[in-house]
Amino acid sequence: MKLMNVDEKIHVLESDTNVWTVIKDIVNTGIQEEAFYVCDVGEIVRKHKEWRMKLPRVQPHYAVKCNDNLTVLEVLAALGTGFDCASKTEINKVLGLGVDASRIIFANPAKPASHIRHAAATGVDLMTFDNETELHKIKSLYPDAKLVLRIRCDAAVAQCQLGMKYGCDAVLEGPHLLEVAHLLGLSVVGVSFHVGSGCGDPPVFRRAIAAARKLFDVGEALGFNFDLLDLGGGFPGNKGTSIDKIADIINSALEEYFPNPDVRIIAEPGRFYVAAAYTLATNVHSKREVFSEEDKSVTHVMYYINDGVYGSFNCLLYDHAHVTPIPLMESSGKLIPSSIWGPTCDGLDQVIENALLPSIDVGEWIVFEDMGAYTVAVAGTFNGFPVPKVHIVADKHIWMLLKDTLPLNTERFITGYTPANLRIGLDISGCGEISDWSMHTALCCK
Ligand code: PLP
Repeated sequence: MKLMNVDEKIHVLESDTNVWTVIKDIVNTGIQEEAFYVCDVGEIVRKHKEWRMKLPRVQPHYAVKCNDNLTVLEVLAALGTGFDCASKTEINKVLGLGVDASRIIFANPAKPASHIRHAAATGVDLMTFDNETELHKIKSLYPDAKLVLRIRCDAAVAQCQLGMKYGCDAVLEGPHLLEVAHLLGLSVVGVSFHVGSGCGDPPVFRRAIAAARKLFDVGEALGFNFDLLDLGGGFPGNKGTSIDKIADIINSALEEYFPNPDVRIIAEPGRFYVAAAYTLATNVHSKREVFSEEDKSVTHVMYYINDGVYGSFNCLLYDHAHVTPIPLMESSGKLIPSSIWGPTCDGLDQVIENALLPSIDVGEWIVFEDMGAYTVAVAGTFNGFPVPKVHIVADKHIWMLLKDTLPLNTERFITGYTPANLRIGLDISGCGEISDWSMHTALCCK
C-alpha cells in the first residue's frame, strides 16, 4: 500500500466544519503530538477572486518562494495564475505541474550561470536584470532571453525591504543599462520593481509606475519594443488586511501612465495568496512558572511549544512577522503575563516575549493564524524538531470547483471529515505518516 504524504490529500469539509473544528478534531483524537498546519485551499481561491475583481488588468504571477507547497501551486496553476520563480528548482517545480514555460518569469536579477542555462533549456525566456554584469552573462548564456529591467522604488514602510539588494536606480543607472543591453543586441521587453514585501505605503506604487513610464520612453527611443510592466509583490495577505487602497492607486496610475492595453501588466504576489490560508497548531509540552520572591505568587509563566524560530516561526526573524497566540481551549480564567518558547535549546528560540494568557496546561494547544507566508518554506529541523506537516482542507463548494479543474488524482480527495478519515495522514510521533488506521494500530499499539 502506498503511503500518501499528509500534504497530498485534500480533506473535503462538510458545511458545518471549518479550520477550527478540524484542528479540534485532530487534537481530540488524543494521539497527535507534533505541531501541524491546516491549509484552507478555499482561502487561496477566494484571494484569487478578490485579485481578479480589484486588479482586473494585472496578471498575478505567484511568487513560489513564499510557500512552495505542491497543492498550493497546483491550485494556483488550475486557477490560471503565472509564477515568479527565483531558481532552477522552483522552475522545475512549476514546470512539473504541466504549466507552460510562458507562464513563468525568472524574477531573480542575479542568477547563477547554471540556472540561466536551465531557463534556456526549458524555454523560460522572461527574466529580470538590474546590472551590467548580468547582461553580459545573459548575452553569453541565453542571448534570446526577454529581459525586464528591475528598478528600485522603496516603500517608506514595509515589513521587509528589498531595495538595498535589488533594483537599479531608475534615473542614474536605468538609461545606461538599457543602452548597454541595446549595444549587446539583447531584447529588453519591459520594467519591473518590488516596493518591499508587506507594503505599508500604498502611494509608492504610483511613484514606481511613474518611474517605469520614463524608462519605457527611454527604451522606445532606443528602438526597443517594451510591452511588459511588472509590479512585483508587496500586497498584504493576513486576515483583516485589504488591498483596496493599493489596488485603487495602481488602477489609476495604470490608467494615467499606461493607458495602452497592449502593455501587459503582471505582478508577483506572494503573501497575498497564502498568508491567511495556513493556521498552525502547536502543542505545549513544558511549562515553567516564575514566582514572586515576596509572596510566592506566580508572576510569569513560560510555555514551551513544539515549533519555534528554527521552524515555522523563522518568520519572526526573517520576515519581521508578528504572531498572535490563541489558546485552543477557551478559558475565562485569570490572565497571567506569559512568554512562549520554541523547542530547541537556543535562548534565541522565543516565539512570544510577553503576552497576557490564561493558564494553559501541558498537552494543550496554542494556535496561530496567518502562518502561510515565508514560514514552512524556510523552516529547518535544528535540534531534530520536525517541520510541521500540512493538512489540506477545502469546503464542498471549493471541492466541486477544484475537482473539475485540477488535474488531480481523485484519490487525493477524501470526501467528508469523519472520525475515520480524519485519521488518514495523521502525523504520529514515532510512526511517521499513516494512511490506514489498522496499520497505525499494528505499528504503534502493539
Ligand atoms: N517578487 C520578488 C522578486 C520577491 O523577491 C518577492 C519576495 O521577496 C516577491 C515577489 C513576493 O513578495 P510578496 O510576498 O510581498 O508579495
